[in-house]
Amino acid sequence: MAHIVILGAGTGGMPAAYELREKLTLSHRITVVNAVDYFQFVPSNPWVAIGWRKRNDITFPIRPYLANKGIDFIAQSVSQIDAARNTLTLANGQHVHYDYLIITTGPKLAFDDIPGCGPAGFTQSICHVDHAEQTYAHYLTLLTQPGPVVIGALPGASCFGPAYEFAFILNMDLKRRKLRKHVPITFVTSEPYIGHLGLGGVGDSKTMMESAFRQHDIKWITNAQVTRVEAGVMHLSELDPQGQAVREHALPFAFSMMLPPFKGVDAVTGVTGLCNPRGFVLVDEYQRSLAYRNIFAAGVCIAIPPVEVTPVPTGAPKTGYMIETMVSAIAHNIAAELAGLPARAKGSWNAICLADLGNTGAAFVALPQIPPRNVNWFKTGRWVHVAKVAFEKYFIYKMKHGTSEPIYEKYMLKMLGIERLEH
Ligand code: FAD
Repeated sequence: MAHIVILGAGTGGMPAAYELREKLTLSHRITVVNAVDYFQFVPSNPWVAIGWRKRNDITFPIRPYLANKGIDFIAQSVSQIDAARNTLTLANGQHVHYDYLIITTGPKLAFDDIPGCGPAGFTQSICHVDHAEQTYAHYLTLLTQPGPVVIGALPGASCFGPAYEFAFILNMDLKRRKLRKHVPITFVTSEPYIGHLGLGGVGDSKTMMESAFRQHDIKWITNAQVTRVEAGVMHLSELDPQGQAVREHALPFAFSMMLPPFKGVDAVTGVTGLCNPRGFVLVDEYQRSLAYRNIFAAGVCIAIPPVEVTPVPTGAPKTGYMIETMVSAIAHNIAAELAGLPARAKGSWNAICLADLGNTGAAFVALPQIPPRNVNWFKTGRWVHVAKVAFEKYFIYKMKHGTSEPIYEKYMLKMLGIERLEH
């Protein structure tokens, strides 16, 4: 009988384990291997970084919940994948053999691409709960010593939504504390225009996000090629649409949070023929590796093309809804193969997102992700903030209790008043 190993217990890996457990008989073994022993709900990290959530609100220990469903768990980092011998080597030297491997390792945060960036340098991060906690400590210092703030996304970034969220929630928190007048905020982004989001914009996102920035006194610089960061100063070239530098900036800051470009994690990048040059797994439409028939991959770790070429490089975001469909396709495909049937289920590359903007929010649906689209829908309103809080609670509940209900399709679309998506 088969042993299916899922590498990474994040937004993709946990539902993959639950859905496979539901689909396969108990004669097949399922093991999840994750670098740490807890799950974190990554979309809530911006709230942790501003003190609106505590670590315990958005994390929980993985083992007991997987054990309840008969899924084995190993809390170890994988240091090597030997795809020829179907074996993982863990950081403690242990070896794990698999018949099928599902890679859901998310991103390696490539702060090193730009000198001085990231928590080891001079800018903060919200990508991991550990980073978000450090960012909160720096935010508390800002509250006692207010000064200019720079928030945004670095060249090569693909995940822009959380940068907008963080700018707006920081703005809202400072207003509540009556400190906003002491804190000029500048949004610095590699996007060619505000509201591009790595998606070429969605509906009226440009106008609506620019308008929201104007209403909240947030200045912006787009086509920003950040070149280096020193203590308290961000150096960047502002490019024109042809990619020529038109202005050099040395922006002073007392506090900065910048979303980094992503790469594949080392263990995955190290496998011959598995990845593109940035270390993202090359998969076919059934989420199967192009090089290894028994390896599937889903989530941020897979290679998808950018929506369009931009003067400063940007990538396309990989968001929760598409991750849910990729994972579901993998569960169907492995179950089909084990039953002697062809693997024919496909994920869908559509974006459905709720972005919290403090006490309001922006929701968008881009179907498909690459324009022109059948659905190109962008709306703002206080209801999005409420919906995002509700979604957080439901998603964490689902990750603990292992329902394989597709919550984006069943729950978020209903919330948005959209009955169903035609794939
Ligand atoms: P992750 O959730 O990052 O999980 C990867 C897992 O793999 C981790 O647990 C990690 O420890 C483990 N791992 C990595 N390497 C190894 C190794 N070598 N050995 C063992 N384990 C390993 N999308 C939305 O749709 N809506 C949102 O509101 C939203 N907000 C976001 C906010 C932030 C701050 C960020 C960064 C992204 C957000 N996204 C959002 C995008 C996306 O949904 C998330 O990044 C999501 O967590 C990606 O899921 P994943 O399973 O690919 O990776």
